[in-house]
Parts: sequence; structure tokens; C-alpha cells
Amino acid sequence: MLERVPHFIEGEQVFEGPTFPAYDPATGAEIRRVHEADAAVVDRAVRAARRAAPAWAALPVAERARWMRRLADRIEERFDDLVAVEIADTGKPLEQTRTLDIPRGAANFRSFAEIAAQRPAEAFHLPGVLSYTIRRPLGVVAVIVPWNLPFLLMTWKLGPALVAGNTVVVKPSENTPGSAALFGEICAEVGLPPGVVNIVHGYGRTGQLLVEHRGVDGVTFTGSTRTGSTIMKSVADRVKPISFELGGKNAGLVFADADLDRAVAGSVRSVFTNGGQVCLCTERLYVERPVFEEFAARLAQRAAEVTPQPMISAQHREKVLSYYRLARKEGAKVLTGGDALPGPGYFVEPTVVTGLPEDSRFNTEEIFGPVCHIAPFDTEEEALELANSSEYGLAATLWTTNLDRAHRVAQRLEAGLVWVNTWYLRDLRTPFGGVKLSGIGREGGTQSLDFYSEPTTITMELT
Ligand code: NAD
Repeated sequence: MLERVPHFIEGEQVFEGPTFPAYDPATGAEIRRVHEADAAVVDRAVRAARRAAPAWAALPVAERARWMRRLADRIEERFDDLVAVEIADTGKPLEQTRTLDIPRGAANFRSFAEIAAQRPAEAFHLPGVLSYTIRRPLGVVAVIVPWNLPFLLMTWKLGPALVAGNTVVVKPSENTPGSAALFGEICAEVGLPPGVVNIVHGYGRTGQLLVEHRGVDGVTFTGSTRTGSTIMKSVADRVKPISFELGGKNAGLVFADADLDRAVAGSVRSVFTNGGQVCLCTERLYVERPVFEEFAARLAQRAAEVTPQPMISAQHREKVLSYYRLARKEGAKVLTGGDALPGPGYFVEPTVVTGLPEDSRFNTEEIFGPVCHIAPFDTEEEALELANSSEYGLAATLWTTNLDRAHRVAQRLEAGLVWVNTWYLRDLRTPFGGVKLSGIGREGGTQSLDFYSEPTTITMELT
């Protein structure tokens, strides 16, 4: 019997609506049947969230922070179940799931509990005038998340949204419903007040029904730029606040003065982690000419040794392979990979190509697979121009041992996140997000709390 994935509304599992299949990308086997929410189910979830909102918002922040810590504790108690479900849905390596995805889920609740509980209020005093600011939750927040880091990204939004006093309706990706469903169980197990967290499953059309619902006060979305743009249009009439973490076409710059061993190892990680299915992955590498040949050869050799990880779906595998074919058609030199891998499961070869023009589709569109293009540059100015030529601006990485250059270049890169001699190292208190087509707004630390609340300034004349 296939597991059936229910919605989670007002503290209850809801087995309603037709079901659709979810697959294990490592084998291609159907592993779950997922209930799809229609307008009536979405409406029920939003109403539940609205009913729960006043009491939840009225709790002292220290009390909500205690709930966040209870959720984190229960995540840790159900660690093995969460790891198993996430691996089945995504095909991720055990090690990555155990050390990153699930622990970050618990950390997201603990960190934001701490940040919120310790946040001071603002007051400004002039002779005869006192102004101070209070922050109130938005109300009901729609949380829409993608499939590449399902549990990590969902909790990244839930931690701050909930501790700031909002209630939520979550729409996980249709490809990866498992860990969200388990999180519904966790909410019930710790006794979280019913309606504070609600989860509805479905495809994009369910997400669309949710963001358009008049009972939703704000939308936080992580996913592709195209969907972000659609959501923006959907909420425009009601001018709802949005926070968007979108796609990328991230650049890595390797200068001739870099520690090459470190730069090669770091670039391999930044291109191939999670099969390239991390929004922060590097898809464009630019290497200073004196070390270009050596770097490219070493990168290609290491790429050929990478253990392939499945693409999330048959459809996504086909998309990645279409870019491999396009590269060949456009005259690329394939340094390694470039083909499908035999099934079962949705595997493709880790791939490095060179020789394509900067304005080619391959070099401008997000591929989201285990692949990069590598090209030489001659000057620092040229490197910056190449890196900044993208319409996207999520992350950039640079490899150099020259301290002046590190700061000079980092400060001119058009990206929300810049790493120097490392990649994917995160402090949850720092702002996270992108510029240009990569997003609107920032989450992380107090920036998240700012998005999930609205300030009211109160000014009083003192006589
Ligand atoms: P996607 O945009 O296809 O889907 C994301 C979510 O939106 C899914 O839950 C989907 O069902 C839902 N959705 C689709 N259409 C909708 C609509 N019209 N209204 C409301 N919801 C809708 O993205 P994906 O393929 O799941 O994820 C991959 C993308 O996410 C990549 O572009 C990647 O760069 C991006 N991403 C960005 C970040 C970041 O922090 N910037 C992090 C992870 C992933």
C-alpha cells in the first residue's frame, strides 16, 4: 500500500480531494499518493489560520519562543523519520540530510526564537516628544516552498513567521510533500494550538488559489523567478507584502593568486552539491588566464569522480539534458560528462563545458543541474564585468589570497551573497536573498522578523 499524504488543517489530518503520485527520484518508483487541495480545502485552511491568529498573536513573544523550542525538540526526537522521508522524496545523500537539511530545520526554530525574544523595541525621545514603534504580525502568511531543500526552506520561513505572531498556510512542492506532512504530525504531537500551522498539498494551481485568497495577508515564496513573477501579478490587486527568494545564475571567480587546491575543491562543491539543485550553486566559472588550463583540467577530473545525485523528476532531468544538447549544438567543448546516465532513477552526468559565448542561453538561463561553463578572463575589471553581466544576482564566490582584491571585488559583485574562499557557509543572523531577478527582500535574522511583521509608530506630545 502506498502511503497517502493528507493535508493538515486545524490540528487534524485531512484526507480529502483526488490524489496524485510522488516518486522516489533515485529509483523512479511511485512512493506516495498525495491529496490535492482544491479551492474548498484551501479556503478551509485559510479560515482555520484566521481563527487561530488573534490568540496566537496575543501571546507574549517569550511564550511563542517556547513553542518554537518544543517544535525543535520534537524535530530532533523524530530525526530519523525526517531523514528517511526527505531522502525518499529527494534522493539526497544520507550524510547531507543528516548533517544539513534536518538539523537546520531544528536550528531554524531555535535561532529565530532567540533572535525574536531578545529583540529590543525602538523609542526616540526629543524634548516634549516621545515616539516609539511596535511591531504587529501580518496575520495569515502563505508559505510556498520548492523541492530542492524541502524541510530546510520550509522551516526557514516558519520559524520567524510563527515567532513573530503569524499563523500560516504552507504549500510544499508537489514533488516533495513528505517532510511537510511529518511536520504536521510534529505540530499535533507537541500540542501546538490548532490552526497556527496548516498545510495543503498540490501543484502550482493550489499555490495560486492560496496566494489569491482574500484571507491571506502576506506571501513568502522560494522558487523560480517565473513563478515569483506570476505570484506578484496574482497579489498585485490586493497589494499584499511579498518576500521572494528566486533563481540564480551564480558566478565563481578564480584569480591566479588563489590557493588552487582550495579553489578546485570549493568549486567542485559549489557546482555539484545536491546535483547542482541548490539555488546557490555556481553555474558560471571564470578563471584568470594563467591558471585557466590547469584549473579546467583539474575541475573536469574531479567532476568525473563526483557521485551523481538524481534530478528531482523525469521532467527536470529532461530539462537539464536539453541544456546539455543545446551546449553541443551551440559548439561547446565538453570537458567531461554531457549525457544522461542509465536508470532507474533520474540521473545525468556531472558536466563541465567551455567555449560558449556569454550571451548564449546556456550561459544566461538557470539550468539547476550538475553543470557549469568555464571561461578565462584577463583582468579584474573583466572578471567583474563577466560576473555582473547576468540578469540574476543571488550569490557569487571568489577565490584569491590577495586581501585587498578580496574586499575590492566582493564589494562590487552584484549579488545578495558573496563568499570569499568558501561557499555555502551561513550564519542565520545575516540577511539572505538576491538582487535583480533573484528576489525581492531579505530573510534571515531580524530581516525575517521585519518582513513577518508591520511596524506602527506611535508619537505622543508630552506636556
Ligand atoms: P517553482 O517555482 O516551480 O515552484 C515552487 C513552488 O511554487 C512549488 O510549491 C509550486 O507548486 C509552487 N507554484 C507553482 N506555480 C505557482 C503559482 N502560480 N502560484 C503559487 N504557487 C505556485 O520552483 P521549483 O522548481 O520547485 O524550485 C526550483 C527553483 O527554486 C529554482 O529556480 C531555484 O533557484 C529556486 N530556489 C531559490 C532559492 C533562494 O533562496 N533564492 C532557494 C531554493 C530554490
